[in-house]
Order: sequence, then structure tokens, then C-alpha cells
Amino acid sequence: MYLLKWTRTVRQISDTRLLKSQAYLNGSFVGVGNAPVTNPSTGEVIGSVPDFGADEATEAVEAAAAAFEAWAAQTPKQRSIALRHWFELVVSAKEDLAAILTSEQGKPVSEALGEIDYAASYIEYYAEEAKRISGEVIPPHRHGVRNIALRQPIGVVAAITPWNFPAAMITRKIAPALAAGCTIVLKPAPETPLTALALAELAGRAGFPAGVVNIITGDARAIGAVLTSHPKVRLVSFTGSTEVGKLLMRQASHSVKKVALELGGNAPFIVFDDADLDAAVEGAMLSKFRNMGQTCICANRFYVQASVHDAFIEKLSRRVSELQIGDGFAEGTTQGPLISEEAILKVEAHLADAVSKGASVVVGGKRHPMGGTFFEPTVISGASSDMILARQETFGPVAPVFRFENEKDAIAAANDTESGLAAYFYSSDLSRIFRVMEKLEYGMVGINAGLLSTELAPFGGIKESGNSREGSHHGILEFTELKYASIGGITA
Ligand code: NAP
Repeated sequence: MYLLKWTRTVRQISDTRLLKSQAYLNGSFVGVGNAPVTNPSTGEVIGSVPDFGADEATEAVEAAAAAFEAWAAQTPKQRSIALRHWFELVVSAKEDLAAILTSEQGKPVSEALGEIDYAASYIEYYAEEAKRISGEVIPPHRHGVRNIALRQPIGVVAAITPWNFPAAMITRKIAPALAAGCTIVLKPAPETPLTALALAELAGRAGFPAGVVNIITGDARAIGAVLTSHPKVRLVSFTGSTEVGKLLMRQASHSVKKVALELGGNAPFIVFDDADLDAAVEGAMLSKFRNMGQTCICANRFYVQASVHDAFIEKLSRRVSELQIGDGFAEGTTQGPLISEEAILKVEAHLADAVSKGASVVVGGKRHPMGGTFFEPTVISGASSDMILARQETFGPVAPVFRFENEKDAIAAANDTESGLAAYFYSSDLSRIFRVMEKLEYGMVGINAGLLSTELAPFGGIKESGNSREGSHHGILEFTELKYASIGGITA
């Protein structure tokens, strides 16, 4: 049944040549597709990509290194024009890209279309920002001297990305890297390489010279070992789990590479008794259930003040029971499948642990009758700090609600984690808004807002959630080195 739908979708879309089964190295699609890519909604194989390893990763780095000098020498305006062209191609292929994305990742096609817009926004933004990388004129420290600091491209960038945003996590790295004058080798997640390769095809059409953009698929450990050790790689930019981020950081330390990490979260979502409860519930729905709870900034823990606790649970549960689970291409679907059996087992383990420690399931709590990796969106009450879901990101559609009495306790509970990516809270008290915002130990805080992400703002975490920022003018600086030059012999 799904194949029919897929064929129909492909016929509907303008350009099926975006569906690739080869990696993109040094300006060409190469290799044989032997690693299958499956649709998590149906389990069917929808494509395949090469299972490359260390040799091809080395070739990719060498290609990126060979292309670096000429690309860095282009004027910012030339780089800007190429990026702008890529942006326009991505926007015009939006439906094709969204269809590929939904097919390999599972999210509803409406969300996939939103992700392509979001992914494209980084390309557009950095096409503009390419022209705005400036240095400084520093006051002279003695007569006859002039001092400047300039920002230069860091060099070859190695990037590794996850499956939950197969387009946006990629453009958020490639676009600023290219804008800054760097070249890049990117390894996408094995679950979702087809979106990455479709973006590479469009990058090729946009006219980036061979070697500037390289997408390699295959054995993560072998490729990762090359990307973190090759002397020509100067920056390792990783988005994914904290565990793998730490590993890559260790590997990259041997050659003292810069490492930019965007890692896991464990976001608190606090509802104070002065909050607009309906707005808080809508924010909770967006923050928790988008992409089936598989986002790094998903609310993972709901702290609700005692006097509004029961009303919040009642309203949230009602909204959750309206969600529609199904194939991402089916009309009206709001929730697709989880990415894998492993993901569903993690959700079940967190739930079983919570229930064994006294939590109650209010809505959902089990696999959906559709089977596969479909899971019922879930609300549980009676959550407590000794439960696994208080300490680890569940990365699934489970909203555990904790009760709190006062602001101090809520802040202490929210900060009681090694993660520090995103936090949310709802309140209508201006003093409290500033007080709580300043005390939350997080890189990003949503206040009376369940959605945070935009190319205009710095995205990133503190503590074990990361050490860098993506997006905004801050994001491009990660891809530059600051060079200080002192010029002597200047006569008055
Ligand atoms: P993951 O298991 O860490 O994998 C991420 C990427 O790293 C994949 O491409 C994976 O490839 C690769 N990888 C794994 N082990 C590797 C190794 N030894 N060497 C080189 N590469 C390796 O994370 P995930 O399950 O895909 O993504 C979910 C995680 O990402 C969550 O923790 C989420 O919070 C986080 N995330 C963070 C952000 C952010 O901006 N902070 C955004 C999105 C997601 P293989 O699968 O082939 O191993």
C-alpha cells in the first residue's frame, strides 16, 4: 500500500532526480547503494546509500582540503550568491524534499514542509551573513604600530548529524561553514541520508565547486575516526547525543581540533499558578509532541504548581487524546511513528520505571494498534525525581507531570540535571519572568512560548548539552579563526 503512495508522491513531485543512492564526494555522486534506508512508518525499503568507511572518508577530507584555498579566496559576495542560489533551489524543490524527508523519517508531511522552510532559512540567512564577517581595529600599544584582528575561515569542517531533523541540522552547519569560506565533509545519520543527498544534489546545481560540499554515508565509527583525526580537519561540528559528543571530543583532542557540540537535552517546562493555562497547554503540545517528542528541545519534564496542577493535567490530556496517529502522508496525521524499535523500547522502559515508582498513566501509555513503532501520545501524573525520565531525555511522546509548591522548588528541580539546552516556563508576572529566566541554567529559555527555534537566534546549550551556538551572527563565528596582526614601522 505504501509503495503505491510513494510512487504517487514521486509522480506528483517535479523532479525525482533528487532521490539519490550514491554519496556526494568531490562534486560527483559515487559508490553503490548497499545500505538500505527504510520508512519507519511501513518498514519498507525506500532507497539505499553506500556503506563507505575510512578510505572514502579520507578521500572526502582530501577533496575538501584541495577545494579550500580557492573557496576561501572567493569574495564574500561570490559565496553569498552561490548560497542564495542554493536557497532558491531548495525552496523550489520544497515538496520533493518534504516527501523524501517524511518517507525516511516518518514525521507528518506538514511538519516536513515546515522543516524544509526552516532548513532553507539558514541558507538564506548565511547567504546574507557571508558579507558581514568583520574584524577589529585595535588601538596601538606603542608608536609606529597598528593592530588589527581579522576573522578567517577555520578550514576543513567535519560535520556529523542526527536523524530527527534530516534537513535543518544539515543546513545549519553547511550554510555558515560555506559562508565563512570553509569547505565541509558531512556524515548524515544512517536512518535519514536521502534528504542530505537531495540537498547535495541541489548544492551541485547551485554551482559550488567540486570538493566544497561532500556528503559521505556509511560506517559511523570508521568515518568518525578519520574526521576526528585527519590533520586537515580543523573543526568537528557534531549534533547528536551527549554520549557520542563526548567520544568525538576525546578523539579530536589528540590533534587539538576545535569541537562544536550540539547535544542532548532534558528540558523542564514549568507552569506557575499565574500562567494563562490554556496558552500553557498549547505551548506544551508544541514543545512536547512535535516530531513525536523526538527533538532535543522537547519538554521532557512538566513542573506544574499545585493549585493549577489538576486543571493542567485535565486540559493537556484532552488535547493529547485529540492527536491523530498515522502515516506521515495520510490526511490529518499529526503524529508519525517513532524512528526505530530501539526508540520505542526506551519509551517503554521509562514508562515502566515511572509506573513502578508510583506514576499513573492518564492518557496513552502503550504501543498503538497500528503496530510497528507507532506509540500512543502519553500523559502521566505523579512523576518524581527518582524516576529515569526525570534524569534522561525520553525522546518520545511522553509528558510526565511533576507537582511543585513554590518558585524556589521549581527552579531547583528544573536545574537538577547535567543537561542545559532548553527550558520553558509560563507566567504572567513580569518580575517572576525575569527572575526565573535568569536563574534557569539553560542556553535557551522559552517564556510563554513553546517554540524557540529560528535562524535569527543563537541555538545551543550549556553544561553537558553543548559548547557552541548555531544560527544568528554568533553561529558563523564558530567557523572562523581570529587572527591578530601587529604592523610595525608606521611613520607619522
Ligand atoms: P547519536 O546516536 O549521537 O547519533 C548522531 C550521529 O552521530 C549519527 O550520524 C550517528 O551515526 C553518529 N555517530 C554515532 N556514533 C558515532 C561514532 N562513534 N563516531 C562518529 N559518528 C557517530 O544521536 P541520534 O540518536 O542520531 O540523535 C538524537 C540525539 O541528538 C538526542 O540526544 C538529541 O537531543 C540530540 N540532538 C541535539 C540537537 C541540538 O541541537 N542540541 C539537535 C538534534 C538532536 P550512526 O547512527 O551511524 O552511529
